[in-house]
Amino acid sequence: MKIGIGLIKHESNSFNPELTEIDDFKILRGAEIFNNEVLMKNSSMGGMVDFFARKNEEVELVPLVSAIPKYLGGLISLEAYREIKEIFFDKLRSSQNLDAICMDFHGSMTVEDGIDGEGDLLEGIREIIGPGNPVVCSLDLHGMVTKKMIKHGDGFVGYRTAPHVDKFETGNKAANLLYDALKNNYQLKTASVFLPLLVSGEMSETEKEPMKSLIKELENAENGSVLSASYFLGFPWVDVEFNHGAALVVGRKKEAAVQTALKLGERFWQEHKNFDFTTETHSMDQALKKARVSEKKPVYICDCGDNPGAGGSQNMTYTLHTMLKMELERALLGVIADKKACSYCFKKKHGSRVNLKLGRFNVEDPTPLEIEGTLKLTVTWKGVQAAVIELDGVEVVITSERTAMVDPDFFKELGIVLQDYDIVVLKGGYLAPKFQTYAAQVLFGLAPGYTNQIFEELNYKNLSRPIYPLDQNFEFNAQDYLFFS
Ligand SMILES: [Zn+2]
Repeated sequence: MKIGIGLIKHESNSFNPELTEIDDFKILRGAEIFNNEVLMKNSSMGGMVDFFARKNEEVELVPLVSAIPKYLGGLISLEAYREIKEIFFDKLRSSQNLDAICMDFHGSMTVEDGIDGEGDLLEGIREIIGPGNPVVCSLDLHGMVTKKMIKHGDGFVGYRTAPHVDKFETGNKAANLLYDALKNNYQLKTASVFLPLLVSGEMSETEKEPMKSLIKELENAENGSVLSASYFLGFPWVDVEFNHGAALVVGRKKEAAVQTALKLGERFWQEHKNFDFTTETHSMDQALKKARVSEKKPVYICDCGDNPGAGGSQNMTYTLHTMLKMELERALLGVIADKKACSYCFKKKHGSRVNLKLGRFNVEDPTPLEIEGTLKLTVTWKGVQAAVIELDGVEVVITSERTAMVDPDFFKELGIVLQDYDIVVLKGGYLAPKFQTYAAQVLFGLAPGYTNQIFEELNYKNLSRPIYPLDQNFEFNAQDYLFFS
């Protein structure tokens, strides 16, 4: 059997007005994909390749295209999307006689004008490879499953962990699903119950309730006829009518898939009011005050409203402004992304006084924050320029690009010893696993940004209503939200 394999993914935030362009993607073609070690180790696509490599006597694997974002941001521009599509479909058309396709998708890739990226790509894939050849996709737990995706795709498998540590296993599972259907010549059946709710990642880590129990039930739901069961949480910061969570089941028989999807959909809905921040949460001002007097130091505060991992611009200065106003000591903020400010620092000598304008105050007010301090160090780390500036008790790191706060080595590289600080504020959602060991206490601080956690404050116009928590106490009947192929 000849199987095409590809990756196109993005998580697109429609509240961030800066569109994602073609240069924001790293594109690999054909064999380049297999040669990319990081991709092969840390993605669902890597898991797919790993699975098919074990079947190499039966499976000929054809690497198509990998388009992975360098960082997340606003909706993908029509132009960038057209270009990616063209590259991908050209490669697909020139790959003769494929029996099936296995794709590593996110599920929340939205294009300018509110186009459902994955649904549109699957429609195109189906057109090229024909109706009988299976297409199976892995998806992020924060994906939005749409009717179009289910219509044109055969099977979907979602991550079961947040933070996402099971990408590889999910790819393995998706590949197995595809392989088994091809080998035993049956058609996969997908059924899904859409869940009318918005829930942020900060409320749904899978080691905490209610997700922990819900995920356990997915495992129990899988048996001979139910091959894969997944929950999807959707992505709250995109204002499109197809934004919702989902319970999704892939089976050998339609009836089993439908019944299990209904059961899992109802089960999830029982918990919908039990989602709350998984970490102690305050307004940013309150979180900083609490951290200042805390006996358990260091306190790590996640600046969840300006999270680059969910498409935030990472340049809101409200938090830094508050930290300076409070005259905090031994405090660190990582990071504010501002290319211009960063390149200014790179022209200055270490130890010199710098005076610069930084970022924007908040969503409504683009005024930059003027700061004056001492430039401690400038470093280029994995292609990102970074500068450390000392401002009377508060240190701030400025970067040339948005940078996810997931790796403490970034700070080491900047000569920053994390143990030297009492308060560390990181722009991001839940604290990344590698920082957990550094923190004596973790707080979520709510501050302005394009990943605002207070959904009632976001100006949604296109969501299907009713949707929780914007609408409360409405009837939910899983049957009304059921969709199947
Ligand atoms: Zn995710």
